[in-house]
Amino acid sequence: MSAGALPGGPFFQYRGEELFVEDVRLADLARGHGTPLFVYSRAAMLSALAAYQRGFAGRKARIFYALKANSSLAILQVFARAGCGFDIVSGGELERVLAAGAKGSDIIFSGVGKTRAEMRRALDAGIHCFNVESEAELEVLSEVAAAMGTRAPVSLRVNPDVNPLTHPYISTGLKGNKFGIAHKEALRAYRRAAALPGLRVTGIDCHIGSQITQVSPYLDALDRVLDLVAAIESEGIALAHIDFGGGLGIVYNSEQPPAADVLWQRLLARLDARGYGDRQLMIEPGRSLVGNAGACVTEVLYLKPGEQKNFCIIDAAMNDLPRPAMYEAFHQIVPLRQGAGKPVTYDVVGPVCESGDWIGRDRKLAVQPGELLAVLSAGAYCMSMASNYNTRGRPAEVLVDGAQAHVIREREDAGDQMRKEKLLP
Ligand SMILES: *Cc1c(COP(=O)(O)O)cnc(C)c1O
Repeated sequence: MSAGALPGGPFFQYRGEELFVEDVRLADLARGHGTPLFVYSRAAMLSALAAYQRGFAGRKARIFYALKANSSLAILQVFARAGCGFDIVSGGELERVLAAGAKGSDIIFSGVGKTRAEMRRALDAGIHCFNVESEAELEVLSEVAAAMGTRAPVSLRVNPDVNPLTHPYISTGLKGNKFGIAHKEALRAYRRAAALPGLRVTGIDCHIGSQITQVSPYLDALDRVLDLVAAIESEGIALAHIDFGGGLGIVYNSEQPPAADVLWQRLLARLDARGYGDRQLMIEPGRSLVGNAGACVTEVLYLKPGEQKNFCIIDAAMNDLPRPAMYEAFHQIVPLRQGAGKPVTYDVVGPVCESGDWIGRDRKLAVQPGELLAVLSAGAYCMSMASNYNTRGRPAEVLVDGAQAHVIREREDAGDQMRKEKLLP
C-alpha cells in the first residue's frame, strides 16, 4: 500500500516505515498508554468540518454535529470551539454537550423515543429545536411544555421515502423504517403541531440514512422535502429552517463518496433553482466529521494457523470495535511499522468469546506477536458504541494536535466497571 493512500490521510500516514498521526508516531502512543488505544487527529476533524464550511460559504447555514458518532467530551469541545451546534438523541448526550461548553441554543434533539423527563430537561436548557418523529410525540411534548408555561420549538422529521443505497441497518428514510413521519401524513401532522398550545413550529427535517456515498438520494430527498415545504406553507404554517440531517459517507476501503463541499454545491444549486436558497439551512453530520479522524491501535497477541483459516488474535475486540460484528463493516488494518516479512492471509479476531468477534477477514499481513496494528477509520461509531462485554475495560483515548498528544479518556479498569454494582447482604 502506498503512503498517502490510507483513509484518514494525510493526517494518518507513513513517514519512512512508521505510521504517524499528524507529527506523533503511533508506536510511541501505544508504548506510553497501552493498547487497545483510540487515537484521534484534531486537524483531521477540523479539515472535515472545513469542507462543509466551504460548501456553505455565504449561506445562512449551521452545522450541528451528531454526537452519537463520537461523544467523548474533548471531541465535543473541538467542535464547540469551532462554532458547531450539536444534534443529540438522549438526555445523556444533552448533559455531555453542556459539560463540553455548548449552550442550550446550540442544541437540537432528534430521536423516536424521547421521554418526558428528557423533554423537560431540554426545555429547561433552552434548546434550539426538537426534531419530532411522530404525532404521539407532538401531543406529549406540547403537554410537557404547556405544563412548564412555555412553547417547545419543533421541527417535524419527515420520511421522504427515498433509498439511500446503503446498508439496511443504517438506512432510515424508507417507508418501512421506524424513523420520521410518513410523507403523506406530514401535512396533517403539521396542522396538528400548529394547533397545539405547547408548540411553536420552526422548521422541517429529514435524515435518510448513513454512510451514503452518492449524491442522487440527497437530491431526491431534497425535492420531496421541498414539495412538502410548499404544501405546508400554503396553509399558512411558516417554516423558518430546513434541516437535511447527516449521513454523508467516508472512505473505509474503496468507496468514493462526494466531498462535503461538492455535495453541498449540488444541493444548494437545486435549492436556488426552486427558490429556497436563502432559507436558514441546518445539517447534522456525524460520521463524516470524525470517522477518518480516528484509529484504534492494537497489539498482536497470537498467531494461530488453522486448517481452513489462519487467525491473527489481537487485543482489540468487538466490544471496542463493534462495526464489523454489527454491520459486517470493513476497516483497513495496517501495521504501525511496515515490515519486510512475507504476508500471510489471516482473519483478524479479538479475544471475546463469540464467533462474531472478528475485526477483519482475509487480510494479508506480515506480523509477529507483540507487533502493533492500526484499525483505521475508527473515529465514528466505535468508542461511542463500545461496551464492557466480557468485562473488558473500554480503551483509553488520545487526541493529537500537531506534535502534542492529550489523553482525553483514561482506560477503564475492573473497578470502574463494578462501581455501581452491589453484592447481596
Ligand atoms: C445518526 C444521525 C445523524 C448522523 O448520521 P451520520 O451518518 O453519522 O452523519 C444525523 N441525524 C440524525 C437524526 C441521526 O440519527
